Amino acid sequence: MAEYLASIYGTEKDKVNCSFYFKIGACRHGDRCSRKHVKPNFSQTLLISNLYQNPAYDPNNQLTPQQLQQHFDLFFEDMFMELAKYGEIEEMVICDNVGDHLVGNVYAQYKFEEDAGKATEALNNRFYAGRPLYVELSPVTDFREACCRQYEMGECTRGGFCNFMHLKLPSKELKRELYGGQRLSIRELKSGATGTSEAERERIAA
Ligand SMILES: [Zn+2]
Ligand SMILES: [Zn+2]
Repeated sequence: MAEYLASIYGTEKDKVNCSFYFKIGACRHGDRCSRKHVKPNFSQTLLISNLYQNPAYDPNNQLTPQQLQQHFDLFFEDMFMELAKYGEIEEMVICDNVGDHLVGNVYAQYKFEEDAGKATEALNNRFYAGRPLYVELSPVTDFREACCRQYEMGECTRGGFCNFMHLKLPSKELKRELYGGQRLSIRELKSGATGTSEAERERIAA
């Protein structure tokens, strides 16, 4: 019986635990969900809820697709640089969904649980662009599982209100630069070189 329960934990067959919360870290029923949302005490993944405000969804938006991408890239870079101060990031994703529980969600998966823990604690007292950050450790372990497959094939009929992640992607060069730069600064630290950026100094001090 225990084995059966373990095998269905967090799946649709699990009548106790919410499969959406378990897989995607957010469920449209929120606190009123009839199934349990068990917040992890330890996780490699953190979630900052409802942070990115896409100007494309502003009815008075005048920005061109290119300007919208720039707006997003700047935000992505800002977040990545900030989150990377706490440890090596394996993956950071941002939702393009419009439903209340997913809109603007930023998820970061760290290589080490303790770094995700440190970041969660530190960032919860912070503001970004004048808005308070709501940060929590998230049960999400695999972004592939959390993402909408139909959306990736350009076939999702639920649009922005889909309950699986629709990711907004940074431009390829930026992504390469950020993940590559991170690897470089880690290598420098390991070889004992003293970095000059604030992120590096903090890491050395820690
Ligand atoms: Zn739920
Ligand atoms: Zn979808």
